[in-house]
Amino acid sequence: MQHIIKIKFLYFEIMIALLMVMALGVVIAWKTSSSFGKIPIVKRKLARTDRILVITAHPDDECMFFGPFILSAVQKWGATVAVLCCSTGNNEGKGVIRSKELLNACGELGVSADNVQCLDNSQLPDHSLKRWKFETLREVIQEKVSAFRPTVIATFDAHGVSGHRNHCDLADAVTAMQTNGHLPRGVRVLLLKSVSILRKYFKYADAALTIHLDFDLIALVNRENESVISRAMRAHRSQMVWFRWLYITFSRYMLVNTFDEIPEPERRTFRKAEHR
Ligand SMILES: [Zn+2]
Repeated sequence: MQHIIKIKFLYFEIMIALLMVMALGVVIAWKTSSSFGKIPIVKRKLARTDRILVITAHPDDECMFFGPFILSAVQKWGATVAVLCCSTGNNEGKGVIRSKELLNACGELGVSADNVQCLDNSQLPDHSLKRWKFETLREVIQEKVSAFRPTVIATFDAHGVSGHRNHCDLADAVTAMQTNGHLPRGVRVLLLKSVSILRKYFKYADAALTIHLDFDLIALVNRENESVISRAMRAHRSQMVWFRWLYITFSRYMLVNTFDEIPEPERRTFRKAEHR
């Protein structure tokens, strides 16, 4: 019995120590975060003329992971943003509610309802183990690309930030479409960088570190816009369980997004000389 009590006490002590370290990191980073406004927000800029298609897997991905990017695209760069969410997030039978919440959250981020589409496709179920077939994804993405005519497509990278199978399948599909020339010429593809769990939950400390690292594009928001993203998260009311509050408080994806760009493939050009 005493042995069990000792183990429990040790576990409690470790938890307290971890929380203290995290709190210390947050306080230090908060003190230094006032310099964020002085650093260049973007290494490789997007323009007002850009049409950005953000492709996500579930309602809430857009603000849980892409919030700083969408908000920067709308507010700072003045670009037109559309969100294509490939499922209603119906894993717990809340698909109808969640697709309405998606509209509200996108509204908070400045994306008009006309530019938000939530697919309800039986081939694309919200499930962490079921794979989404490339052909299905290619079809729905090409249809959206034809309708919206984006200049930039942004989605997850191969690790999917949280490792969710649906996120990773999106990354694989969009990467394959770009490298195999299935996207129109000139469309840029940006993949949201996944980071280690330690970096993921040391919000301000990670933002301070990130600006010195390698990336093709960064979107970093100030405290005011951080609260806008928090408000967008809270628009997903059906998802606001206790650990979502921890996520809002500690996750770097509420403050900063970094992207790698997939280069366009070399396309064969028609040379008259060869056909003379
Ligand atoms: Zn998701």
